[in-house]
Amino acid sequence: MASRTHRRSLRTRRTALISAAAVAAAGLGAIPFVMNASAATDLAHQALPAKDGWAASGTGTTGGAAADSAHVFTVSTRAQLVAALGSASNTTAKIIQIKGTITANTGTCDSYASGTGYSLAAYLKAYDPSTWGRSKVPSGTQETARAAAQAKQAKAVTFTVPSNTTIVGVPGSGATLLGGSLQLKSADNVIIRNLTFDSPEDCFPQWDPTDGSTGNWNSAYDAVTLRTSTHVWADHNTFTDGPTLDSAEPAYFGREYQIHDGALDITKGSDLVTVERNRFTNHDKTTLIGSSDTDSVGKLRVSIHHNVYTGTVQRAPLTRIGQVHIYNNYYDTTKVNGYAHSYTVNSRAGAQIVLENNYWKLSADRKVSQLVNGDDTGAIAGSGNLVNGTVTDVAAAYNAAASSSKQLKTGVNWAPHLYAGRESSAKNLPASLATTTGAGVLNSAGTVG
Ligand code: CA
Ligand code: CA
Repeated sequence: MASRTHRRSLRTRRTALISAAAVAAAGLGAIPFVMNASAATDLAHQALPAKDGWAASGTGTTGGAAADSAHVFTVSTRAQLVAALGSASNTTAKIIQIKGTITANTGTCDSYASGTGYSLAAYLKAYDPSTWGRSKVPSGTQETARAAAQAKQAKAVTFTVPSNTTIVGVPGSGATLLGGSLQLKSADNVIIRNLTFDSPEDCFPQWDPTDGSTGNWNSAYDAVTLRTSTHVWADHNTFTDGPTLDSAEPAYFGREYQIHDGALDITKGSDLVTVERNRFTNHDKTTLIGSSDTDSVGKLRVSIHHNVYTGTVQRAPLTRIGQVHIYNNYYDTTKVNGYAHSYTVNSRAGAQIVLENNYWKLSADRKVSQLVNGDDTGAIAGSGNLVNGTVTDVAAAYNAAASSSKQLKTGVNWAPHLYAGRESSAKNLPASLATTTGAGVLNSAGTVG
């Protein structure tokens, strides 16, 4: 942390010297020094603003802003992206600008399976509940083969992001990561902006008959995944399934053959994250905060604000344990492309959510009591939430309909103090967020236009 602050101050000083020299060269030496660091604050170099959510805590989040010119990359192919990311342990500040679409897969589902002995038909035969039962997870020849094939795909579609990195889409280029998973593992200080993520598609979902009461097909890749990572700012991105939507997938053993996992998952003791002005659409499991009820107590602190959710099924977010501030978001429960709303925010495993000044557009097929839910240990406090324009206590509506063993607590153990830009009313969000969220709205100055 100290070294990052040090580098930032060096950069500021250098900028000041250059600016003073420019002023002198222009014959304006008598004018007092008034330049700020604007020469370095184009979209690619911008840091998280002060007090902008949990990621602004402590040393804040600067990503690769301190990169020297040798560590500012523009990439338009998978190989260039891999080279620019470098080793996961190389924490030199770097800026990676993605131009156009980068396709993550280097092969096809068939080519990854080739040589492993895996086939879906054989897998389905081996683990059919009528013979395998429902009490144990798959093991044996076909499960081993599935895992081997999945490992081959993982090499292609996963990209490890080191500390002190900014990854940003070049404005106007339609910057997209198609079928890839950006993975932050014990990384600190990362910025991800202005990118479209077409969610990775797992060629080899795993059957787990013990997941829930009826079993589930589970996939391995989130578009962006944070594990034990800190100081992360995800801003102005678009997360969507594509090209294969869930509605195109069959059901096996009575359950959807789910090839996608999360859009943006924050797990395993990750902490100090700001999720801002992203667009989440055409997706089921949107954002998981904490992957188990024993994920790290005292961490998982996340701010989620000014995002748009349309055609998302669940987990917007599902939160465990952490102090999470969810404000000024827009949620539309309308079914889109087969993605039918289940619930929006879940608070469980003692989560401490402040949910305020959000706007729900509630479709006729959904009820106010279906917007939030919990497990009798999670809390949702906060006010000013609007449902179709009317102030509504969404936690109270849920509690009135829920069983006594699943009640939400409505008091929390903290008060947010990092919320630059928080709006005290949600009423303008449907209009204002329509043009200010997601990938593609920022220009090279980092402003909308
Ligand atoms: Ca997809
Ligand atoms: Ca996940």
